[in-house]
Amino acid sequence: MKLQKPKGTQDILPIEAAKWQYVENLARETFKKYNYGEIRTPMFEHYEVISRSVGDTTDIVTKEMYDFYDKGERHITLRPEGTAPVVRSFVENKLFAPEVQKPVKMYYIGSMFRYERPQAGRLREFHQIGVEAFGSKNPATDVETIAMAYQLFNELGIKNVTLHLNSLGNPESRAAYRQALIDYLTPMKESLSKDSQRRLEENPLRVLDSKEKEDKLAVENAPSILDYLDEASQAHFDQVRQMLEALQIPYIINTNMVRGLDYYNHTIFEFITKVDRSELTICAGGRYDGLVEYFGGPETPGFGFGLGLERLLLILEKQGIQLPIEIEMDVYIAVLGDATNLKALELVQALRSQGFTAERDYLGRKIKAQFKSADNFKATAVITLGESEVEAGQITIKNNTTRQEVVAKFETIQTDFKSILEQLN
Ligand code: ATP
Ligand code: MG
Repeated sequence: MKLQKPKGTQDILPIEAAKWQYVENLARETFKKYNYGEIRTPMFEHYEVISRSVGDTTDIVTKEMYDFYDKGERHITLRPEGTAPVVRSFVENKLFAPEVQKPVKMYYIGSMFRYERPQAGRLREFHQIGVEAFGSKNPATDVETIAMAYQLFNELGIKNVTLHLNSLGNPESRAAYRQALIDYLTPMKESLSKDSQRRLEENPLRVLDSKEKEDKLAVENAPSILDYLDEASQAHFDQVRQMLEALQIPYIINTNMVRGLDYYNHTIFEFITKVDRSELTICAGGRYDGLVEYFGGPETPGFGFGLGLERLLLILEKQGIQLPIEIEMDVYIAVLGDATNLKALELVQALRSQGFTAERDYLGRKIKAQFKSADNFKATAVITLGESEVEAGQITIKNNTTRQEVVAKFETIQTDFKSILEQLN
């Protein structure tokens, strides 16, 4: 019997979850400044939504999909990434209609599933924050979207992330390059990894993406895709570069970066950082001008990225970045004696409904232990409720830092605790 979590998954417990919430909230605030709205799509999709759009020969589709047949014999897969589902939804909900303001900008935050070999920053259920912008061919959209991720890293205080930039051009320049790459790689086919020998047949650009040592060596002097861009693709790429420079966003050109998904064209990018001397991509994306049409919508350009939350948090930890997460509580009620239970319940509930954060003792512990809890929770005020207070109908409220005290009637606590707190500060 297996009563542990499945391999490659994680339980995110409250202290850790507070960090997740901080990062997610910051992302939401940042994206809002760029006029993005949230989209939530299903956690699973028809297999076909992912397979051909991401690419039948990609690692994601051939090796990493969590797919199955449901009880209605439908071929289903847990989503391995966010872009294909969002494009599917964009088309299905006719967001291409003229009355919908363009560009349509949407972000998502959620779980993705890939059957991978788990290791640091690589899980089977992981979380992505992703964004997609539909309807703008303008290279300013490429740059703005990259700048948005960059702003997020800066606001988090992350250092040493390098922006890697490349262009895949349009389908024609990509086809020309594909042939050049086949010509280059074929004579050294025997020295490639088994996977890459297959890739060379099916999808030669994938060889550039391989993480195997022998493949990395083989592609070191491969022809550059940038030499195969046609004029329009070149112009687009030049503008992206100029605009990045205008915004003072540093980047390096990496012509061997092709991304692990087939739907990209023109600009592609990754934000890469070093963790324990190995390189880790935190955020990756690019332009996908053909994807909306593929899903049956009208020709609509698209640009987006996906950012791995686990990797982002790993980097925050490795770089020793403390997130400003406050633990705070307004009131702790220490409870003494059996006859006080109901009053404690009434008080703590009244405080919460007035909007205060409040906790009490439930376990009849010794008073010392209860005060210790108040300290641990960083409670601003402490109330000690005993049977004599219940009889008297009033109680002392103490500032847990200054030790200053106020005596108040239960009724005041239950209706206007704010005035009491003001007296204490
Ligand atoms: P890699 O080359 O590291 O396998 P990828 O090209 O498969 O990455 P994308 O599909 O571009 O990754 O996903 C975007 C981001 O999502 C990655 O840059 C990474 O931060 C994160 N990511 C991808 N796969 C995983 C995973 N298995 N576990 C955790 N994070 C992941
Ligand atoms: Mg991968």
